[in-house]
Amino acid sequence: MSLVSIILWLTADLKVKYSFSTPIIPYVNETFRFIVFLFITLTLSELKKRLVLEKELAMTDYLTGISNRRAFFKLANLQLRIIKRVLRPFSVIYMDIDRFKEINDQFGHNIGDVLLCSVAETIKQNTREIDITARLGGDEFIIFLPETNSNEAALVADKLQKKLSEQMNIHDWPVTFSIGVVTFHFAPDNVEDIIKKADLLMYNAKRSGRDMIKSETLYLHDRAS
Ligand code: GH3
Ligand code: MG
Repeated sequence: MSLVSIILWLTADLKVKYSFSTPIIPYVNETFRFIVFLFITLTLSELKKRLVLEKELAMTDYLTGISNRRAFFKLANLQLRIIKRVLRPFSVIYMDIDRFKEINDQFGHNIGDVLLCSVAETIKQNTREIDITARLGGDEFIIFLPETNSNEAALVADKLQKKLSEQMNIHDWPVTFSIGVVTFHFAPDNVEDIIKKADLLMYNAKRSGRDMIKSETLYLHDRAS
């Protein structure tokens, strides 16, 4: 576009036949205009690229590379809107690492970071592409499983707990996982309600002695509770 604009401008200048003191002047003018146009074009295109990158970074957990809290809310909200139209059961798994602070204290913060990345990777490898996996913060992970009833969600949670334990054992990391699994047979009002329910179940697992899964299935008549 810069080049086309300059050719048009030059053609117009030559056609109008301004009286320039030397014939080279319109060419010098157009060269400078071309440099300015090109500078603007390249700057805008670079800004656009940066904007796309920044948007992606704003949705990504800096440590593990999976979705962050903001991305989870956005993607889960989209799923909720679909579920409100086409009522299908879905499940959410909420997971907190047990005694993770001891890893930081015993092996150092860097190893703690490696452990968190390993957990994210294991979850990713053992869930479907359409599932939304995110790190909500600290040592807490969440997985939104569309089109998943309570039996299927229980299988996924069992499998994840087993795979994660295997992974932790390989490195001799003495941690376990407390997991809450909630299945909805209706569309809740918002994502906060979903997280609250799943978090409560995870907390029950913690309080009951850690390293366990607590599940609940909710139907429309449970909505008020
Ligand atoms: P609990 O069994 O009750 O879950 O105890 P916990 O030791 O796992 O501790 P808790 O879940 O309450 O807190 C999570 C800890 O994770 C707090 C903080 O020290 C640590 N942490 C949070 N973010 C990071 C991080 O990005 N990297 C590392 N290495 N540690 C983190
Ligand atoms: Mg923890």
